[in-house]
Amino acid sequence: MNKIEQYIRDINNFPKEGILFKDIAPLLQNPQGMKDCLNELLGLIDDVKIDKVVGMESRGFFFGTLLAQKLNAGFVPVRKPGKLPYKTIEESYSLEYGTDTLEMHIDAISEGDNVLIHDDVLATGGTASAVCKLVERLGGNIIQCNFIMQLNFLNGIEKLNGYNVKSVLEY
Ligand code: AMP
Repeated sequence: MNKIEQYIRDINNFPKEGILFKDIAPLLQNPQGMKDCLNELLGLIDDVKIDKVVGMESRGFFFGTLLAQKLNAGFVPVRKPGKLPYKTIEESYSLEYGTDTLEMHIDAISEGDNVLIHDDVLATGGTASAVCKLVERLGGNIIQCNFIMQLNFLNGIEKLNGYNVKSVLEY
């Protein structure tokens, strides 16, 4: 068993019936767990200069900012519509029912920036693939999509075909 696994709490039927929610709150509460997880995430990253770490609202912010500090890179938040105050670009993506939209500031990525994308969970891959599109529209070069865990039974990896996808834990 990977040592990070002990800090991930399974919550059945949250936020709705039939979903097994992977709760990282116990990990966030444990300083040693946070250090270990950060080191494991860093260990997934090849020796390439990263200019920006892009983290998804909101659980991608926790380790996204820590990774950015360790990599001496900038941090870029991707947010739900209407949250970012400056000019934005947006991408919509399909959910099981309906669509969702994500936004990024237009000056968040510079042409040619090497980008690491980070989130806590890769599920169906809709979120991460929308973020890849936002980054590429601004000229970013995606080095890796980096997650604490990926839920292989949801096949998110298929939506990230062609990208370098790495996770500490796989379920
Ligand atoms: P997806 O777009 O389906 O890959 O969903 C990814 C986003 O939803 C991530 O930001 C996750 O934080 C969250 N998410 C989806 N499924 C789960 C789950 N089973 N447990 C925890 N978070 C999840």
